[in-house]
Amino acid sequence: MYDYDLLVVGSANADLVIGVERRPAAGETVLGSDLAVHPGGKGANQAVAAARLGARTALLARVGDDAHGRLLLDAQRAAGVGTVGVLVGGAPTGVALITVDPSGDNSIVVSPGANGRLAPEDVRAAQGLLHASRVVSAQLEIPLETVEEVVRNLPSGTRFVLNPSPPRPLPAEVLAACDPLIVNEHEARVIAGDELGGAPEDWARALLALGPRSVVVTLGAEGALVAADGSMTRVPSVKVDAVDTTGAGDAFTAALAWRLGTGAALPEAAAYAARVGAAAVTRPGAQESYPTAEEVEALCG
Ligand code: ATP
Repeated sequence: MYDYDLLVVGSANADLVIGVERRPAAGETVLGSDLAVHPGGKGANQAVAAARLGARTALLARVGDDAHGRLLLDAQRAAGVGTVGVLVGGAPTGVALITVDPSGDNSIVVSPGANGRLAPEDVRAAQGLLHASRVVSAQLEIPLETVEEVVRNLPSGTRFVLNPSPPRPLPAEVLAACDPLIVNEHEARVIAGDELGGAPEDWARALLALGPRSVVVTLGAEGALVAADGSMTRVPSVKVDAVDTTGAGDAFTAALAWRLGTGAALPEAAAYAARVGAAAVTRPGAQESYPTAEEVEALCG
């Protein structure tokens, strides 16, 4: 019997957002809007998304001993995420400094801070959490060595899901553990090479050749493509009025990982995840936009 349906190993950032008329040039100062501070980071987002849906979820992450770290911990606890694996200290909490101009374009500077200090030994010290979790998911806003250590310490029978974002070439050992590897087009191209063909089916074939057990390609409003067990299945999304797509990929990954843990086959889990992603884009923000299971039902039937 597992204590957790999903353990998310990943980043937690404070997103500091200021609206600007235009960005400053070097040496220049511009005035902006009031500061908005939002809990973010791909790991923290995934954990909140899964918990909101009803998954018993834990987070293995590192935040600083500071106000941003407390904000992130509070957001996790408010969503019902188990935070025994959230380590505190070692560096300031990770921060994303975001300016948004009137056309909605973002410029972002990320300071990984404590995320960069989530170390392989932290994974080894969290053996209990790994063994208590049916599915483990990760992303790449923490050191790659730490993700490699997760793979090395996966208990047999525990499923591993990776969203390699931000993307970089991956070691064979990590690729071989992914079931599935979840990518968008940009991530597919970085991992499988720029000379990929134009169709998602081509990207999935090229990625499968690198060794993951299965691949899911997310396609925004078009839904997703599932490549597993020798076949490819297109999974539609739901037609919605998109307000803000920030964090839709994190909601998709969390929902898919959770459904796999409940015994769903990959295409079925991806179909559910596509509905969760669609629900998430109907509201602004990342964590603030994530739906409950009832809201997914209400939106999509
Ligand atoms: P991000 O990095 O912005 O969080 P992503 O590129 O990793 O996102 P997307 O493919 O944009 O991932 O979105 C994930 C899922 O969310 C899609 O597979 C789809 O199901 C859903 N989704 C995203 N955008 C829309 C949209 N405009 N309409 C309907 N569903 C959407």
